Amino acid sequence: MTDARIDLLIKNGLVLTFSPDALTGAIIPGGGVAIAGDAIVAVGDGAELAKKYAPAKTIDAAGKIVMPGFIVTHSHMPYVLGHNMPVDFSQLRDFWDMLQKMGWEWLEDITTQEGVYAATRYAAVKMLKSGTTTVCELVEGPNALPGVLLASARAMEETGIRAQLGYEVTERVPGEHILKSASPANAARGLEENIAFFQRYPKGGGRIEGRLGLHTAFTNSRATMEKARQVADQYGVGIQTHIAEIPRAFVVEKHGMSAPRILEETGVLGPDVIAAHCIDLTDEDVEILARNKVNIAHTPMTNSFGGNGVARVPYMMEKGLNITLGHDDFFTLDISEYLRYTFLLHKAHNANAGLLPVFQVLDMALGNAARALGLEKQIGSLAAGKKADILIINPDSPTPVAPCSVLSFFDMTFQGRQVETVIVDGRIVVEKGRSTQVDEDETRLACQEQARLLWRKAGAMI
Ligand SMILES: [Zn+2]
Repeated sequence: MTDARIDLLIKNGLVLTFSPDALTGAIIPGGGVAIAGDAIVAVGDGAELAKKYAPAKTIDAAGKIVMPGFIVTHSHMPYVLGHNMPVDFSQLRDFWDMLQKMGWEWLEDITTQEGVYAATRYAAVKMLKSGTTTVCELVEGPNALPGVLLASARAMEETGIRAQLGYEVTERVPGEHILKSASPANAARGLEENIAFFQRYPKGGGRIEGRLGLHTAFTNSRATMEKARQVADQYGVGIQTHIAEIPRAFVVEKHGMSAPRILEETGVLGPDVIAAHCIDLTDEDVEILARNKVNIAHTPMTNSFGGNGVARVPYMMEKGLNITLGHDDFFTLDISEYLRYTFLLHKAHNANAGLLPVFQVLDMALGNAARALGLEKQIGSLAAGKKADILIINPDSPTPVAPCSVLSFFDMTFQGRQVETVIVDGRIVVEKGRSTQVDEDETRLACQEQARLLWRKAGAMI
C-alpha cells in the first residue's frame, strides 16, 4: 500500500468506461474507480487500485455495474406540474392546441417561482435517482420573471445534480395567439433574465452554469435571434433552442424560409447550439444543421405525444450530426425509458431492425451529450482527470450481466430504480436508491402542493 490518499474507491464492479464511446470503451470485470475530491484519479483493475490507493471510504460493487452518469440535453422540469392534470383533452385537437393550452395557458403562463422551485427540486431528485447526473434545462415562465432562473438553480444545487440552464427568450405574448401578436419587449425581458444569471453563474464557475435559451425561430424576429447570439458569445455560453417541432410550413410563412435557414442567416447556428426536436426538415435543412455542426436533442416521447412525427435520426446521423437525448419532462423522468423508446422507435418507423444498435443509443445519453454541452473533457465517460459523475447499478436481470451481455442489458432490462448509488462531483448524492441531499417525501409533497395551486389557476378540477 502506498500513501496515495484518496476520498473514495469503488472496487469489484463491472466497470464500463464508455471512453471514448460505448462501442470501443473498456469493460472491466472486477474493476474499480479511484476518486479524489471531485475528480477521477484512476480507472482499472479493482484489486490493483486497492493496492495502490488508501481510500477514506470504499464501496464494494460486486455484482454491480459502474459507469458514467447519463446526460439529458433538453428538459423543462416545471412541466412535471402538468403531469396527469385533469384537463379536457377534447379541447386539444392538434399540436397547436396542445402548445397553446397545455404548454402555455395551463402551465408556463401561470407558473410561479415557488412552482418552478418545487417542481425542479422534485424532477432533479427523480432524475438523479434513475441515473441522470447532468441536465440541460430550459426554463419557461413569463409570470415568474425576474429571478426564475435563480429559483431553478437553487433547486438544482440542493439536489446535487449538474446542470446548464437558461431562460427561454420569446416574443410570444401570454394569453394571445402566437400568430396574432409579438412583443420584442418580452424577448428583451427574457434576455435580461439570462444575462443576470450568466453574471451570477459564470461559465466554467462550477456545477451549475448557463446556456442561453431561445424558444424558436417561429416565436422570434430576426433582431431577437441576432441579439441572442451576441449575448451567448459575450458570456461564452452556448444556445439551446427548438427547431422544427411544428410543421415547417408555419416558419416558412412567417420568415419566408425554413427555421434552419433563418437561424443560420441570423448567426444563431454553430457547434455550441443544442436544437431540440428537429422533426419536419428537408434534406437541405439537415444539410444546413450539419454544416453548422449543430447538436440535436432527440425527444421521441413528446414528439409522439403531440403527433408531431418522428425525427429522421438515422439520416441525420449519416449526415454527421451529433444526436443526443432530451425529454421535456412530459412523462417519466427515468432515462431508461428514453433509451429504450429511442432504441425501438426508429426500427419500427423504418421497418429496419438493423438501425440504432444499443451502443449508438447509449452514446446519445453519454459521450454525444457531453460534447453537445461542451463538457466532453469533464463528463460522459470514466477516465482519469474527468469529473467523478458515476452510477452504481444493481442489475435485476434474468440472465448473467457480463462483459458479453452488459450493453444489451440497457435496451432489454435496465430500469432507473436499479440505480443504487449516484455520485456527482465526487459526492454521493444518492445512496441505496435514496437522495442523501433532500427529504424526498417533503420534496414530493411540496411539488404536489404547487401542482394543486397551478391546477386551480388553470381551471382544472381539484
Ligand atoms: Zn422543449
